[in-house]
Formats: sequence, structure tokens, C-alpha cells
Amino acid sequence: MDCLFCSIVNGEIPSEKVYEDDKILAFKDINPQAPVHILVIPKIHIQSADFITDNNSSYIAYIFEKIPEIAKICGLKNGYRIVSNCGPDACQSVLHIHFHILGGTQLPDKMA
Ligand code: AMP
Ligand code: ZN
Repeated sequence: MDCLFCSIVNGEIPSEKVYEDDKILAFKDINPQAPVHILVIPKIHIQSADFITDNNSSYIAYIFEKIPEIAKICGLKNGYRIVSNCGPDACQSVLHIHFHILGGTQLPDKMA
């Protein structure tokens, strides 16, 4: 399967990692939309929120357990936004579920 983020997980494509363990990886977005823009991904391939099941939801729960630690590592002290685009209407461009962590500035109050 040809998946950009699976290739980042297995090291075929480099990334600027900020956190990694056996289940998840967090790395800097290549085209940051805020002073801090991190992507958090599971190390297993899940296409999007539409593909979360009983069998893989523990990875998603674990990501949310770790997000506060990742935010702290990235110096986010005054809040941050978590975004996951799902499908064409949301402009999901990489079909491996990922959670954007955006912060380091006052973010706009409108999300769409
Ligand atoms: P989305 O549009 O929600 O699917 O988000 C995909 C994100 O992946 C975008 O913000 C891209 O800038 C980012 N991205 C694409 N390729 C890379 C890469 N090689 N390394 C880091 N981030 C990437
Ligand atoms: Zn993948």
C-alpha cells in the first residue's frame, strides 16, 4: 500500500519527530499553518475517522492520552487546537488518520 504517513512511520520518508513510541508518532507539519503545527498519527494504518472500529480505537484513545504530553514538549502553555479532517468535504489530503495540533498564537475563533 502506498501511504505517505506509513512511509514516514517506517522511515522511508524523513520527518521532524517531536515524540515517538511503539504506538504513535508526532512530527512537524511540512507546511505549518500556525507557529506550532504538529501531526500525531497512529503507527497502524487507519484511513480516517470513518474507519475507527472496536479493533483500532485503542490507538485513537492512546493518541488523546498522549496529546497533552506532546503539547507540553512543543512548548504549548496557553492552549491549542486539535483538528482531524475526514474525507473530501474536509479536504483530507493524506488518507492516514492524523490529528493536527495547532498553537503558539491566538487562533481564530472560527474553524470553517
Ligand atoms: P490533511 O489536509 O488534514 O490531510 O493534512 C495533511 C497534512 O500533512 C498537511 O497539513 C500537510 O502539510 C502535511 N504533510 C504532507 N506531507 C508531509 C510530510 N512529508 N511531512 C510532514 N507533513 C506533511
Ligand atoms: Zn498509512
